[in-house]
Amino acid sequence: MTKRVIECNICGEPLSAATDDELLTQVQRHYASEHEDAAFSEDQAREMIEREAYAAGDA
Ligand SMILES: [Zn+2]
Repeated sequence: MTKRVIECNICGEPLSAATDDELLTQVQRHYASEHEDAAFSEDQAREMIEREAYAAGDA
């Protein structure tokens, strides 16, 4: 079972979810709570995930 992982561009915290759609929610939630000043649109978040997310197995 793999999951999708992306590291926050600002604090480096790894965010993970089962699918890219869930990952999008995680990223938006993380930015909204941790980096309010750096919030971005759903399109931008989706682009970031397409570019930077990678698959990881459960450790
Ligand atoms: Zn962060």
